Amino acid sequence: MINRETVGFVPTMGALHKGHTHLVGHSLENNHRTIVSIFVNPSQFAPHEDLDSYPRSLERDLNTLGGFSGKQVDAVFVPKVLEMYPSGIVLDVNQQVGTFVNVHGCSEQLEGAQRPVFFRGVATVVAKLLNVVAPTNVYFGQKDAQQCVVVKNMVKDLLFDTQVNVLPTLREENGLAMLSRNEYLSAETKAQCAVIYKGLVAGKQAFEAQNQSPVNSNIIMNEILQVYLTMPTSWEVEYVAISHPETLEDLDFVDPAVGATVSTAVRVPREDGKIARLIDNVQLS
Ligand code: AMP
Repeated sequence: MINRETVGFVPTMGALHKGHTHLVGHSLENNHRTIVSIFVNPSQFAPHEDLDSYPRSLERDLNTLGGFSGKQVDAVFVPKVLEMYPSGIVLDVNQQVGTFVNVHGCSEQLEGAQRPVFFRGVATVVAKLLNVVAPTNVYFGQKDAQQCVVVKNMVKDLLFDTQVNVLPTLREENGLAMLSRNEYLSAETKAQCAVIYKGLVAGKQAFEAQNQSPVNSNIIMNEILQVYLTMPTSWEVEYVAISHPETLEDLDFVDPAVGATVSTAVRVPREDGKIARLIDNVQLS
């Protein structure tokens, strides 16, 4: 075996918060070298989505990444769009030229049903980044549960020599999953958003309280929806799903030996008239 230094890699779109730095800290602890990328990836945005207004704060992010005590980040990779997309990139998929990666079977449901180009864009950019960085370990957040499944399958199918590591979701004190786009929510809306995680936790507790096995998904779902009934009426729950943790198939029953991912997306009106789409999930096991 070749004795080589391990390289940990944390891909991000910037506007860094504690959810990101937690991944970086973990990489620093577990690898000789750590590389972080900051790249707002155009191909995962549909033309009507917020590519142009996605929060960008490079200087602040670089300061954040320079602020670890002890071991330091070795490099921050901030590529230009044309470096990552040498054939160019437009948002309309019908006009796109070049090479794209589709991970069939786990990209179409849940988030993929609402955002049909999203995981194609994610898989494509992660493949490119893994080719550039060639890390031993790559780190992703459980917050984006489906993204983790898509990336794991891509790494397996395309034979990347990289270990995919998934770390727990970092949350605000009230349970709201930390998210770069949370910057756009008022304090009042953020406080109300506690209900999203609260519902998922109620579902998890209902699962854990069951003695019979497997557990009927309806029992879990009913608990969640009871909590979601208390949401402001202007909010829209896009989906709540109980899925196989690896295939993302819908589960009528949850076998504790297999577990499940319970995920949701909620559309929350912002003060500026736009809509925040908030996603979250918990794992049942
Ligand atoms: P993003 O910059 O939103 O693309 O996120 C970069 C990475 O950080 C992804 O692997 C995300 O899943 C992860 N991440 C973002 N927010 C959180 C969070 N609150 N907790 C844990 N990981 C997160």
